Amino acid sequence: MKVKVNEEACIGCGACTAYSEAVFELNDDGISVVKTDEVPEDEVQNVKDAIDSCPTAASKKIIIKPLNLV
Ligand code: SF4
Repeated sequence: MKVKVNEEACIGCGACTAYSEAVFELNDDGISVVKTDEVPEDEVQNVKDAIDSCPTAASKKIIIKPLNLV
C-alpha cells in the first residue's frame, strides 16, 4: 500500500504525523510529506486512521482530501 499527500490541499495540521511518525513528517514549509515508498505492514492501520482524520479543504466547491491511498 502506498499513500500520497496532495501538497496543495494540505493545511499542515499535523494529524497524520501524530498517527504515524514512521510514515509522515512535516517539511520546512509545514506541509506533510511521505517518508516511505511503501507503507510498512505494521503502519497500515495508523495510516488509515490518519486518512480518516485528515481534514478536507474546500476549493471551488470541489472537496479535496489531502491524504489518499495510491
Ligand atoms: S492530516 Fe492532512 S492536512 Fe493535516 S498535515 Fe496531514 S496531510 Fe496535511
